[in-house]
Amino acid sequence: MNQMDKPKIKRLAPQLASQIAAGEVVERPASVVKECLENSLDAGATRIEVDIEKGGKQLIRIRDNGCGISKDELPLALAQHATSKIATLDDLAKITSLGFRGEALASISSISRFALTSATQADGQETNTAWRVQVEGQNSQAKLTPAAHPPGTTIEVHDLFFNTPARRKFLRTDKTELSHIEEIIKRLALSRFDLDLCLRHHNKIVYQFKAAATEIAREQRIAKIFGGGFLKQALALDMSIEGLRLWGWISLPEFSRSQTDLQYFYVNGRIIRDRLINHAIRQAYADVIHPGRQPLFALYLEIDPSNVDVNVHPTKHEVRFRESRLVHDFIVKSLQDALACENSVQPKINMPETDLSFQKNQGIQGKKVEPQKSIRVTKPTKANQVQETLASYQALSQTTLGRVIGHAHQQHLLIEHIDGLLSIDLMIAQQKLLFAKLQQALQTNALHTQPLLMPTTVTLAASHISIIDAACDHLAKVGFELTRSDENAVLVRSIPKLLRDTQITHIIQAIFAKLYEHRDELTTFDLEALLIVISQAAVDNKINDVSLAKLEQLLTQLEATFSVQAIMQMATLIPLAAK
Ligand code: ADP
Ligand code: MG
Repeated sequence: MNQMDKPKIKRLAPQLASQIAAGEVVERPASVVKECLENSLDAGATRIEVDIEKGGKQLIRIRDNGCGISKDELPLALAQHATSKIATLDDLAKITSLGFRGEALASISSISRFALTSATQADGQETNTAWRVQVEGQNSQAKLTPAAHPPGTTIEVHDLFFNTPARRKFLRTDKTELSHIEEIIKRLALSRFDLDLCLRHHNKIVYQFKAAATEIAREQRIAKIFGGGFLKQALALDMSIEGLRLWGWISLPEFSRSQTDLQYFYVNGRIIRDRLINHAIRQAYADVIHPGRQPLFALYLEIDPSNVDVNVHPTKHEVRFRESRLVHDFIVKSLQDALACENSVQPKINMPETDLSFQKNQGIQGKKVEPQKSIRVTKPTKANQVQETLASYQALSQTTLGRVIGHAHQQHLLIEHIDGLLSIDLMIAQQKLLFAKLQQALQTNALHTQPLLMPTTVTLAASHISIIDAACDHLAKVGFELTRSDENAVLVRSIPKLLRDTQITHIIQAIFAKLYEHRDELTTFDLEALLIVISQAAVDNKINDVSLAKLEQLLTQLEATFSVQAIMQMATLIPLAAK
């Protein structure tokens, strides 16, 4: 290009500069939510409500009860490089706020129809001293008007990218954009248990988290995000050494996933995805998890802020530790210890009753009720084949308790009973069935042992291994054969036949933990109590096969094993009289 044709160098108009900068800050609606949430937190908010329409493309509204912005500062809040968070270069070194670049609001307001309404705490005392500033993309001047608003701030972002159609085109479906926003909300919910946080889409609640002050409330929040079954399959841990603390929840190796989506790691409250940390976690699980499977976790590392640099990369969530080897090894050791069951505390949340001990007194030996099935055996011809199958199918489901009508959440077996709807916890039912089988086999000397094709090494807590001799004796009586394989591990060679297809590692660890608890009375430890531990450990996962055939088979087994009375004790009846 020759010099004559070359356009002259001009200074960009501030609005245009903002729009270009916005490309870096705002990729999609979720980025707006993230920036605004950070501002709300920096403003000391304890309650934040997020309203979304059309996945955030039409509206993002974020309302907080933070310190607010006074009238004279309002126009500045939207200006580029305007921030209340740092004033000098020195401030950068000891930053404690989430934002500090002074770019977010300038960027967002340049690519949307934007309004910010705010009242400071003092303003809020009187009426109508809130102010609202409104801008519409690049070409409009900020309009300042009085408004009504409680102390705090509301940001409204309408029609994101309305003036940058090229960017708008890159947005995905509402559902996808909403899922990105949900992820931002989940990350925040897990990092700030003290926050009241709510996400609505078209006025429908997606997530509502009440401030969680107690351990139980925190675990309820964990359950909302990780799913109800997680805590039953998780270990709570809390480990510290000088200058470092790691606490949170991790899944047992058996409760793994194929994706990495339920993995949350925070360093001093900030979500981090970091190679060093990922490596440490992988290493801790290396021997116990199936390769290719992913553990679930919410983990919190607390470290002296001067030993970590969190501003290495603003969006990639990387950190730099001064003593990275120490941090790495501390994480590995903490998780390994927890996985070996030592130092871990069981989650405290209310769980469905899984204590089988009452069974020893009642139920199992109770009267057997023969299912009253009447299956006609006729040779179906082609013409009546379908009808025939249907008839026998119905006959099968007509048992004494009632008709299986399905399941709820893969957790409850639902039965249409003469008095209403019966619901039976699937996991408890399976545990009780397994216990009954093991117990019967024990009593009749029929606990057959089966050698494992591949002997399994199970790592144990150092303290647990101390009772290995007594444990091996007990285990031999219920059909296990194992030997010590190294300092902290045993090699399992054979298991009771009834336990094939179960998670042996978990069962062995549970047995050792239980026996260790009773280490002073091992000689008199009741074998049936051991069977209870085994049944609970063997059936502690979500029941995967909930096909009608499987559910019916389960009910048939229950009825063949337990008295009606014992089954009714396991069940909840929702009275629904037939008319
Ligand atoms: P930064 O967060 O980097 O300072 P922003 O553009 O995100 O820059 O915000 C600019 C300024 O506006 C902030 O420094 C803060 O003073 C003010 N501000 C933004 N959002 C809020 C809010 N929700 N409550 C109180 N003040 C806010
Ligand atoms: Mg900010």
